[in-house]
Amino acid sequence: MKVNINWAEAGKRRARVVGAGMTGLCAAAMLGERGWRVEVLEAADGAGGLLRPVPFHGVACDRGSHRVHAEAYAWLRDAAGVRWVSRPRRGMMVLGGRHVPYPLAPWSFARGVGARATVEMAAGFLLRPGMLAAFRRWESARPADGADEGFEAFVRGRAGTRAYEAFYRPYAEKVWGVPPAELSRSVAKQRVSTAAPLRGWTAARRPQSFLYPAGGMAALLDALVRRAAQAGVEVRYGARFTAADVDPRVPTLFTGGLGALTGQVGLEHRGLHLVFLALDTARVSAVDTWYLPGTEWTMGRVSEVGNFGTERRGRARAVLCVEVPQGRGDPARVPHVDDVTAQLRRAGILPARCRVLDHHHVWVDGVYPLHRRGWRRELASALEHAAGLGVLPLGRQGLFLHCNLDHCARMARAAVEHLDGGGDARGWLALVPGFLDARVRD
Ligand SMILES: Cc1cc2nc3c(=O)[nH]c(=O)nc-3n(C[C@H](O)[C@H](O)[C@H](O)COP(=O)(O)OP(=O)(O)OC[C@H]3O[C@@H](n4cnc5c(N)ncnc54)[C@H](O)[C@@H]3O)c2cc1C
Repeated sequence: MKVNINWAEAGKRRARVVGAGMTGLCAAAMLGERGWRVEVLEAADGAGGLLRPVPFHGVACDRGSHRVHAEAYAWLRDAAGVRWVSRPRRGMMVLGGRHVPYPLAPWSFARGVGARATVEMAAGFLLRPGMLAAFRRWESARPADGADEGFEAFVRGRAGTRAYEAFYRPYAEKVWGVPPAELSRSVAKQRVSTAAPLRGWTAARRPQSFLYPAGGMAALLDALVRRAAQAGVEVRYGARFTAADVDPRVPTLFTGGLGALTGQVGLEHRGLHLVFLALDTARVSAVDTWYLPGTEWTMGRVSEVGNFGTERRGRARAVLCVEVPQGRGDPARVPHVDDVTAQLRRAGILPARCRVLDHHHVWVDGVYPLHRRGWRRELASALEHAAGLGVLPLGRQGLFLHCNLDHCARMARAAVEHLDGGGDARGWLALVPGFLDARVRD
């Protein structure tokens, strides 16, 4: 069905927003505050999407390690009205069996991978002319012809074979579960690097802090829901939107997966198992998030819920959230708690003195877009289809992104300004490329 409509002329200033996650709620509240009559359709039985808290052992736990970076704060401070706390960043990586502070400084990296591997990496790196320059241009590099040489070639050409094999390959295989040669170069640019990698290393020398809603992401979500309600937004839960629900008289901002509009299967996602563990101790350590890139561990990150915010301790028990990426695994194969616990002990994260009292598993579908080479072509065709329906896709799922909360708020604001200024779905397509290069901050 092709629909061409000028929303400004339609004049009713009614809008639909699909999805009540961060992006949808921000967009709905912003539209409501500009005088639009807004209805939100949410497939789940509650708001939040990836922000939706998981109640466990008296704590509203976040879905994995979730913090608000300084850049995001400027966007969220006014959109939420929550009580914010600033906490020092205490990340730790398990590398080569050692604990090294994360973000990685060069010397920590060297300590983690060992002296011999460091020398080999450095030699391989320095002996190849042009490598250092390429490494420094990690993020800004753009092939003139738009060609995508893939993750493996991109990283090997900038970090060297030794570093690729020791560090980048296992990490990529673990999270995405496909041979890294099949992944797009954008995975390296958006996910693995931290700005220009060399800048990231110098930044590691400075103490870092991050912002956090004192009551966790649950508090941020409550504030967004409240703000939308104050703006007159109505939310319908249990309402899954499909192409058949398109109403040409009502512009639709769509933050769900594009498959609901197109039936397209070319844009795959990978999910995430979350295993929550309640322990018989008040605190395990001061570390907020542990990072485990190696393939010897099934988990990728572990966070201690009580070390985020200040109102997060349930019944004086520590709660750990273990993130196990789907990789190439079957979502139905739930990680076994004994195996998770044994790995945490082997990694030195869970001391022998701590006993696991209780556990809870949550499967989170569609968390990571699988950016295979050529994904932009697939996305462009799905977006064309959506524009033909008169729908404006945005948000993490709508634009097939791996992104942070501030990016969601930015997309919501751009879409609202576009609609409010009389823009249509096709006009929105012209703005979309500006959102596709989001760099993920850990
Ligand atoms: C483990 C983890 C850690 C993270 N850590 C951080 C962090 O530290 N800092 C940070 O800034 N960001 C972090 N993020 C990212 C951040 O949580 C997300 O980018 C953000 O919440 C995405 O919001 P969204 O609204 O775009 O999408 P979602 O949260 O996916 O919301 C989409 C909503 O749309 C609904 N929906 C989907 N399809 C339909 C349909 N057809 N009809 C109706 N409803 C539909 C879904 O049910 C869902 O509620 C993290 C994410 C994860 C998974």
